[in-house]
Amino acid sequence: MENPVHSLSNIIRSGERIVFFGGAGVSTESAIPDFRSASGLYRQSDNAVYAPEEILHRDFFIRNPEAFYQYYFTNMVYPNAKPNAAHAALAELESRGSLAAVITQNIDGLHQSAGSKRVIELHGSVHQNHCIQCGVAYSLEKILINAPHVPLCTICGGIIKPNVVLYGEALPEDAVSNALAYIARADVLIIGGTSLSVYPAAGFINYFNGKSLVLINKDETAYDELACLVIRQKIGEVMEACVTILTSDS
Ligand code: NAD
Repeated sequence: MENPVHSLSNIIRSGERIVFFGGAGVSTESAIPDFRSASGLYRQSDNAVYAPEEILHRDFFIRNPEAFYQYYFTNMVYPNAKPNAAHAALAELESRGSLAAVITQNIDGLHQSAGSKRVIELHGSVHQNHCIQCGVAYSLEKILINAPHVPLCTICGGIIKPNVVLYGEALPEDAVSNALAYIARADVLIIGGTSLSVYPAAGFINYFNGKSLVLINKDETAYDELACLVIRQKIGEVMEACVTILTSDS
């Protein structure tokens, strides 16, 4: 059987419109925990007062911003995290003209830090924040100044909310339509580091009509049998090795 990284390189080489769709597993090699794998955030909360799904809900944010921010600053924000080999390889593929776009469920901004330009963020970003009263925008650095306390608007005193999609909130319409347009026009869709269990993002796979669906994920997903190639290895190692092969071609 052909080495899966060689198979992936061949698929990328012959692809004409390649799109990457990723999740929290893309950032675990940057030491940001995912949600649902063995060391994920959802498995660490057995003794906590509130479950993460409860805290990360719009209603909880409004009702109890202090507890929201205690959790958020500890578990969702990693200001010192650096892009890993997966982010770097995807940025390199884009700069070589081999990748049309990155669609991400992550909120950490690491694709942009690695140099990716066409990044569609389905769940928003920790780097963008706004006052819920007057709408003024704040950077992550600004809201971290009084962490873990609730950041307040310096203009009107209103509570600042991260532009991150919480449970009970809709995904940003422009990001969704942009993502679906990229997926519908792709001939190769590489999905990586996502359990594909969060809707509506997981349903995006149904919009793909191209010829090659590749899944790179440490754990099994419900969509493995739809893929022409399934790689159950660390995505950073896989993507780095793949770019090395493609670079040695040119
Ligand atoms: P998830 O936790 O449900 O699934 C992550 C998947 O990635 C798991 O199946 C795991 O096996 C796999 N994985 C972990 N490390 C990997 C690696 N190095 N290589 C290959 N596979 C690896 O996460 P999801 O599917 O992205 O769920 C979406 C939710 O997670 C969203 O709400 C998103 O906003 C949120 N989230 C984002 C971040 C972030 O921004 N980095 C962190 C935690 C959670």
